[in-house]
Amino acid sequence: MTAAAPGRGPADGGPPASAAERAAATIRPDIQALSAYAVGHADDGIKLDAMENPYGLPDEVRDAIAAAARATALNRYPAAHHDALQAAVRAAFGVPDAAALLFGNGSDELISLIVQACCDAGDTVLSPVPSFVMFEMSARFHHARFVGVPLTPNFELDLPAMLAAIRAHRPKVVFLAVPNNPTGGRWTDAAIDAILAAAPGLVVIDEAYQPFADGTWMPRAATLPNAVVLRTVSKIGLAGLRFGYLAGPAPWITEIDKLRPPYNVDVLTEAVMLAVLRHKAVLDEQAARLRDSRDGLARALAALPGVIVYPSSANFLLARFSGKMSGNAVHQALKTRKIRVRNFPGGEPALADCLRISLGTPDEHAALLTALHDILA
Ligand SMILES: *Cc1c(COP(=O)(O)O)cnc(C)c1O
Repeated sequence: MTAAAPGRGPADGGPPASAAERAAATIRPDIQALSAYAVGHADDGIKLDAMENPYGLPDEVRDAIAAAARATALNRYPAAHHDALQAAVRAAFGVPDAAALLFGNGSDELISLIVQACCDAGDTVLSPVPSFVMFEMSARFHHARFVGVPLTPNFELDLPAMLAAIRAHRPKVVFLAVPNNPTGGRWTDAAIDAILAAAPGLVVIDEAYQPFADGTWMPRAATLPNAVVLRTVSKIGLAGLRFGYLAGPAPWITEIDKLRPPYNVDVLTEAVMLAVLRHKAVLDEQAARLRDSRDGLARALAALPGVIVYPSSANFLLARFSGKMSGNAVHQALKTRKIRVRNFPGGEPALADCLRISLGTPDEHAALLTALHDILA
């Protein structure tokens, strides 16, 4: 016999409960109340909604990947220590020798491991809002309390409010996306230094968009007593691969590593990363091309009627549509033309009428602008 759901089922003479009823009686109520992370999907048209690199890899890199995959022993578990990949990531991304390094199945996994490692139920995770939604979701998943500190109306960091909230809530973890998603701004080093000095726990500097910005905290990854630096390869052309890395002082990384599922980075990911990093210049060149296109697109968008574009150090622009059409109406009109950008329906009120537009190819920018001229005319 199968086990009965609590208080229900054959044991007490009742009818067997349906899967829906039994799940409802068993799954955590706070999880049932969540809506699943919305992942947009588009098979055709122009995809500017997920900060993906629009440029594919050139044939020589694809051939190197194919050869690496062919040489991979899929019948073997991944090695316990990714020594070759550690060396390659350190060299390619400037991770200091003195910093410890932890790999994740995307940086999303590392965000979750950090919260798990630091937070007992009821402990606080703090970040500016709006910011990356996984900070709050990871907090909820692990029974931590999330405190969001609103950005200023212009989407700048409200440093006095951050410092006051840190003093009031004593967060175990502060997440800072630098540059910030979805607003694009990069907090100053001085502001981050002040947060580091005030924070009683760990400060995670999430540099997912660093390749499109000036400056990085990576050189200090080994020397700050309460900070770690998080990176991903998703935004520089490898979103499908799922690989992120966390650099920081060994006493932090060693503890977080205890929670890592063994084999979280699989043999194909390791092989592909090693092959691609031998051609890292290709990724750098594509990132530079995207970055160079940012100001032109920002100016063209800002010239449209009723459109405000916020300063961005990332591979996307956040724009507010305050003309005759709402942001959601513009989003829908673009979708009809098979152009996908990100809207924020029912989310953060601060993002009302805002659309987040990932940088694409010059042709994609031209098509977007033609469509917007048409829609807003
Ligand atoms: C996209 C993004 C990530 C997630 O990266 P993955 O490695 O794809 O999981 C992490 N942090 C921020 C701020 C992001 O915008």
